[in-house]
Amino acid sequence: MTSWIDVVGLHDLDLLLEEARGGGARQRTLSLGFRLGGLAALERSRVRLQARLDGRWAHAYERAQRRYGRGVVAVRDRVCQGCFITLPTCAAASRDSLTVCESCGRILSWR
Ligand SMILES: [Zn+2]
Repeated sequence: MTSWIDVVGLHDLDLLLEEARGGGARQRTLSLGFRLGGLAALERSRVRLQARLDGRWAHAYERAQRRYGRGVVAVRDRVCQGCFITLPTCAAASRDSLTVCESCGRILSWR
């Protein structure tokens, strides 16, 4: 059974990988003379973590990650912060279990 911790862990790992693979922070770090390592270890961890997710949640996460760059999105006052749709009251009732935004398909973080 997929837990919230696994999904958030995968999301956090993807953010780390995004930083490690490129962007201004990487270039600044290298220009200061620091070495960057551990990318392969991060990618192995991602494979292990992704394998822990049930198929449905792995698919939902990967699809949203590819489409929007983020597989998980926060909810504030019953509004999905990814697509800004107001979620139905019944969605808020199931906030303790994993839920997906019916509009954009991202996994919702109610915390
Ligand atoms: Zn949404």
